Amino acid sequence: MSHDNDTRNGVPRAQAEEAVRTLLRWAGEDPAREGLLDTPRRVVDAYTEWFSGYGLDPDEYMARTFKEVAGYDEMIVLRDIEFESHCEHHMAPIIGRVHVGYLPDGKVVGISKLARVVDAYARRFQVQEKMTAQIAGCIQRALAPHGVGVVVDASHECMTTRGVHKRGVSMVTSTMLGSFREDARTRAEFLRFIETGQGRR
Ligand SMILES: [Zn+2]
Repeated sequence: MSHDNDTRNGVPRAQAEEAVRTLLRWAGEDPAREGLLDTPRRVVDAYTEWFSGYGLDPDEYMARTFKEVAGYDEMIVLRDIEFESHCEHHMAPIIGRVHVGYLPDGKVVGISKLARVVDAYARRFQVQEKMTAQIAGCIQRALAPHGVGVVVDASHECMTTRGVHKRGVSMVTSTMLGSFREDARTRAEFLRFIETGQGRR
């Protein structure tokens, strides 16, 4: 596949590859060294995949995929939705899991659809708190449930591989909307389902 005329978001591919060569030189490398010749192309290809979320509209996607299920009114919990993202401060990976719960009001959506929503937000430069709120907000807008809870548990490579160098630390963020925010019993039921924290792993 030729990428010669590939321009994304106003940036010619050749220019993006040149930026990778600049960073290689900055790190102390010779971008002309044989082992590195294809690296700029591979990095730019990886960026296309890692940041494909900018081309996706989760609201539009959810609006097309919900199902009507009048009668089912118990909490639905999807846990351990794996994701990879990148922090917007260091462009370093954030790797973790998302747990989603909601109390439907006539509309539900399948697990694969919710995983797509998670990916659409994760495949961008992110702040974990913002991503957590974005996922909850999208579910709220699309399904208008009685309540939504989203918990994100992730490790940030900008913390584990540089700076404070703390391995095994994960950051947990949550957004609770509607009955998940207002009703302590609903929230407790959700948290019991996902058993986040020490117990499970
Ligand atoms: Zn960071």
